[in-house]
Amino acid sequence: MSTTKAYGAESATSPLKPVTIERRDPGPHDVAIDIAFCGVCHSDLHAVRDDWGGTRYPIVPGHEIVGTVTAVGNEVSRWQVGQTVGVGCMVNSCRTCEACQEHEEQFCETGMTATYNSIDKHGDGTVTKGGYSNHIVVDEHFVLRIPEGMPLDRTAPLLCAGITTYSPLHRHGVKAGTKVGVVGLGGLGHMGVKIAKAMGAHVTMISHSASKQADAERLGADDFLLTKDEGVFKRNAKRFDFILDTVSAAHDYNAYLGMLGRGGTMVLVGLPEASPIAAGSLIHRRRQLAGSLIGGIKETQEMLDFCAKHKVFSDIELIPIHQINGAYERMLKSDVRYRFVIDMKTLGQD
Ligand code: NAP
Ligand code: ZN
Ligand code: ZN
Repeated sequence: MSTTKAYGAESATSPLKPVTIERRDPGPHDVAIDIAFCGVCHSDLHAVRDDWGGTRYPIVPGHEIVGTVTAVGNEVSRWQVGQTVGVGCMVNSCRTCEACQEHEEQFCETGMTATYNSIDKHGDGTVTKGGYSNHIVVDEHFVLRIPEGMPLDRTAPLLCAGITTYSPLHRHGVKAGTKVGVVGLGGLGHMGVKIAKAMGAHVTMISHSASKQADAERLGADDFLLTKDEGVFKRNAKRFDFILDTVSAAHDYNAYLGMLGRGGTMVLVGLPEASPIAAGSLIHRRRQLAGSLIGGIKETQEMLDFCAKHKVFSDIELIPIHQINGAYERMLKSDVRYRFVIDMKTLGQD
């Protein structure tokens, strides 16, 4: 057992502050990693504030981790000390159920172990602690290879925002010419725009923030719809083949479903409070509504290789860790341009 510095919260109403946590000594199949950068996902904020219920305090969030291997267990052959690696939203699963066998560990039938806020299979009721820390120990199966030449700070967000948008775009066959709408220009949304463009789609950004139009175009969007514009949903009825909804707050899904053409699909990845869906929104034009949860480890590696090939990286604001509470407040105001990433060497300097 070793101790490491981290940032955590004691309750749903307390700010994040410096804490000291324990990490296990690397077992035979473990990889120990010094964390260089950790992205800040809106899920971190939902979990810290207990928006979904079930948060175990104290919580140390963070699941967009990039760092350097410092030690490996004696059975580990795939990873070497000094290698640059990533860790995303999962650190363990059963590896034997049908979902795990089919490389979808996120749907493990016994429950995947999330990078934070899960009961750790390695310890007596220990709760996993995430990437807002200097160091982490992870089973080798859940470590990702970061292709050479990727800017590490701008790559960290791919470990959640990248895979969460790549997976549904890829699974639903988005390709050259597909008319895609991406709803919400935040961490996930901006990756959705970039990845859908790299797949060759015609991409429209659908946002409730007029101030983001120029950025949407700079990020590669072909068009921009402001949802506050009078009549915008009516004017754009039947327009899209595929809509990716990344919005973090409750909104009317029915209005967005109306923008799908015949047989079109809307995939929800944003996870706000429930919002009612009228049967008619789906029945007419045989529209489909689906959801998607991150992606498996094999697919996450595929996504990293895809992003390296197409030079797709996140647009980030690099922050020292003591600015994390301010970053959360900005995230709540939809003022993220377009992912906060913590420079982990600032941990312990304040
Ligand atoms: P984010 O950076 O805060 O972006 C969310 C965006 O949603 C905002 O930038 C804003 O975009 C839009 N939005 C916010 N409030 C809105 C409102 N009241 N009405 C309409 N639009 C609104 O968050 P994120 O990190 O991308 O995460 C987005 C959501 O995905 C969160 O709920 C998160 O928990 C969830 N998530 C899910 C998965 C998964 O596996 N399914 C993985 C990661 C995250 P505009 O200003 O452009 O409108
Ligand atoms: Zn996330
Ligand atoms: Zn399993």
